[in-house]
Amino acid sequence: MTCRARMCQEPRNKLGFMCAQHWSMLPSPIREYMEGANENDPQGVPFMMALSQAVEFIRIEEMPDSAVRWTALIDYKDEESFPGWMISECGHIRRPNGERLRWQVNTSTYPQVNLKRGSGPNRWRLIHRLVYRAWIGPIPDKMEVNHESVMATKQHAHWGNLLLVTPSENRKHAQRSGAQTRHALKPAERSRVERSSRTIHYLAGKFGVSTTTIRHIKKRYREEN
Ligand SMILES: [Zn+2]
Repeated sequence: MTCRARMCQEPRNKLGFMCAQHWSMLPSPIREYMEGANENDPQGVPFMMALSQAVEFIRIEEMPDSAVRWTALIDYKDEESFPGWMISECGHIRRPNGERLRWQVNTSTYPQVNLKRGSGPNRWRLIHRLVYRAWIGPIPDKMEVNHESVMATKQHAHWGNLLLVTPSENRKHAQRSGAQTRHALKPAERSRVERSSRTIHYLAGKFGVSTTTIRHIKKRYREEN
């Protein structure tokens, strides 16, 4: 069986979905989530959703600069421009020296980048909102940017897939697409989470819940003990 990353002919690793090279390219939260979900149920929906995020992450990461169009980067929060910085139609961000920014990715939130310049403050920004601002236009107050296709993962931030919606439309969309994970655990599962020393991402994958749910359980347990 070959690696699931596009065009890759290398054999899959021990977990059975990617070659060693592509596995090592994945952000650690995705790797840990996949390990947990795979152990729980390798055919389950949480695992398949994480796998599609992983494949999409690598597809975007491996696109050469020449394969996508680029435009000037603008911060959606304060309309500040970044002279010499560019953003691609898929959300790659390039510094004036040509170096790409690394995306911060995990399994339950949208990818972000830090637009910090020199010794300036951190500026964590969402990729899909940066794409919308640069390629489509300003984001009106109180509106959210949504991913139109329910098949698309959170990594897929091409402007053609982005849609402006109200917060309530966005919640309905998430329910329809099944993007929401369950929020409660059975008592036995909860006590396993409380006592486990595995990472938050691993446990989220293992029990098919969001990392937020795992964090809440851990926090309450620490407070009570
Ligand atoms: Zn590969």
